Amino acid sequence: MRMIVKDRINREVINNLSCYCREINMPNFQIALVIKSGSMSEEVGQSGIAHCLEHMNLLWDKHEQDEYFYGHGYTNYFETVYILNCRICDYERAIQIIDNIISGVYINQASLDEAKTDVIKEINETHNNDFEIYKYLFDNELLMQKVPVGKAADVCGLSLEKIRRFYLENYVSNNMVICIVSPLQIAKYAKTLKKYFKSALNKELIALNKNCLQTNKCILILEKHNTGYEILLYKHINLDKWLPDEFRTGYDFFLDIQRKKLFDYLSLDYEIMGITCSLKKFFQENRILKIRIVLKDECTNILDIVPKVLYSEVETCQINSIKSQYGEYIKNKKIFLKHEDFLKECIDEVLGVEKVTSIDAERQILNDLLDLSEQEIKDYLQKMFSNISIVRISNL
Ligand SMILES: [Zn+2]
Repeated sequence: MRMIVKDRINREVINNLSCYCREINMPNFQIALVIKSGSMSEEVGQSGIAHCLEHMNLLWDKHEQDEYFYGHGYTNYFETVYILNCRICDYERAIQIIDNIISGVYINQASLDEAKTDVIKEINETHNNDFEIYKYLFDNELLMQKVPVGKAADVCGLSLEKIRRFYLENYVSNNMVICIVSPLQIAKYAKTLKKYFKSALNKELIALNKNCLQTNKCILILEKHNTGYEILLYKHINLDKWLPDEFRTGYDFFLDIQRKKLFDYLSLDYEIMGITCSLKKFFQENRILKIRIVLKDECTNILDIVPKVLYSEVETCQINSIKSQYGEYIKNKKIFLKHEDFLKECIDEVLGVEKVTSIDAERQILNDLLDLSEQEIKDYLQKMFSNISIVRISNL
């Protein structure tokens, strides 16, 4: 796979619509439409309406499968995103399809009927584990009532009128953003963008109530598998509150130290098959910390594990080991991304979940992290698990 050097994103406002464009040396044209409202914006009794509308807008892709021109989408609690990928020569058609979605062209009875069938099938195949986790973490029933995939009974009852109303309220210019990644200069396709994107409506939106995203709960689950035991930990992390601005995007550094620490401690008593630590994007600065530990040995009491996972202290040698790995990484002349990451990064930037930085800025962040004293690192790690209340659920 060919890799390319990181670059910057340019913002253009075209017909009232924010367009974030990246010009990179890649062989195809990628465009995304980001609608900044998802299932949280749904009314009671209309669970799945955002998801259903997403399916309606992508039926063209289902009907005409083309390996060189394709689209996909997803809906979560806070947004619906459409992504199109095509050859350069087809870029105008891609822009036109995005405009069709913006203009509500695909909203009709036949597509609603087909999308409903597909969505209900998807609901029946979806496991609710993730949504249960969110419900417990944030102690909020809404997160269960408003599962992005939707509820079969509600989806059955969706009428064209309800879909239209949801569309009119949410697919408005101040709630939408376009992201484009291609080898073309923006000037080359700006005219095409202006030609389309005319019907972006302009209405005031009701601000989302973000107060529900505050919790100090921590969920620990112990599950038995045929090959051993799996321990899962979930905790909400607000990046703004956890790390200072200067190195907020460098959180992997702390997760790596955390993982190393857990591995060393647990290895004393158990045979470890693997440990992963990750922060899953949730909403803006809100992330879900997930730690997954796979043990080969017998471990039937989660209380034995709790102190080791949550309260063990990190040691100097563990910090130094991760520091030296990052030191090696910094010596690389360039920091690389894969082609498909560019659009994802662009979408993350407009949603405020990640900031795209230049190579120099990225190197600066890593340098700042390496400059941290042992005590500072320990303090940040401790902050991850301070003031928590543990909620145990063993059989989700
Ligand atoms: Zn779907």
